[in-house]
Amino acid sequence: MEIKKVMVIGAGQMGGGIAQVCAQAGFDVKLNDIKEESYTKGLAVITKNLSRNVEKGRMTEDEKNAILGRITKSLDLQDASDVDIIIEAAVENMDIKKSIFAKLDEIAPTYAILATNTSSLPITEIAAVTKRPENVIGMHYMNPVPVMKLVEIIRGLATSDEVYQAVEDMTRKLEKTPVEVNDFPGFVANRVLMPMINEAIYTLYEGVASVEAIDEVMKLGMNHPMGPLQLADFIGLDTCLYIMETLHEGFGDSKYRPCPLLRKYVNAGWLGKKSGRGFYEYS
Ligand code: NAD
Repeated sequence: MEIKKVMVIGAGQMGGGIAQVCAQAGFDVKLNDIKEESYTKGLAVITKNLSRNVEKGRMTEDEKNAILGRITKSLDLQDASDVDIIIEAAVENMDIKKSIFAKLDEIAPTYAILATNTSSLPITEIAAVTKRPENVIGMHYMNPVPVMKLVEIIRGLATSDEVYQAVEDMTRKLEKTPVEVNDFPGFVANRVLMPMINEAIYTLYEGVASVEAIDEVMKLGMNHPMGPLQLADFIGLDTCLYIMETLHEGFGDSKYRPCPLLRKYVNAGWLGKKSGRGFYEYS
């Protein structure tokens, strides 16, 4: 099947980025959010990213306007009634995702693919709330979406080969590199990354070193482009906590217990870059 019309659910840092790369690749994109202000904020970030590309000579003003012209606002899930694929990038919460997928299953055409950008939640469980589990798949982009090449494509237990192939083909059209992964908590990326971030937070919590020192050790010592605490701020501390909880619950292994300091920051509303404060402060 050929994908032409795309809907992205959630205009936050991931959904906005996904809408941008889809529109850049020539797809018509409906960008949906429950909050109008989140849509407006998401579109402003996309516009800023594209304007930077114009300033750097990577695209013309006309190309920028054509890309923006392919993105339309949606505040109603009913807009899914004529699209070929829906990529859900709302918050990392199973109940919210299940509710969105159950509604989409009623609204979207029977042939439409229902994809989720979940960082860690089981695709098979999300698929089970629909009557088309063969059309449900994980499409896990990396942050920031316009820059990062990888997309983990996760097969649920029932995902069909045809749907897998269509999503892989779309990923290549977005000039990204698909990697096939099976459905286990955290997939590959976050099963390996998030325990490292959680351990860095424990290192801070236990007073082993300061925020800056921990990040410096990992940057200079391990050649990481960004320290784990700064990376956690960029990902969003709420998302990091959700992922650790998914790993902890999914494997039933105490090695995945979220650090109490991470929980404390999230409870305080310190969610990282998006809220202005996490391990660092952002103006
Ligand atoms: P975010 O908080 O920046 O954005 C979430 C957006 O979803 C918000 O604009 C919110 O208003 C909207 N939303 C919430 N409920 C909704 C609903 N019912 N319908 C429509 N919109 C709704 O979060 P994010 O960082 O963009 O993460 C989104 C998803 O992407 C999560 O599942 C997350 O795990 C995953 N993800 C995040 C990263 C990362 O680095 N942040 C990386 C890969 C995947």
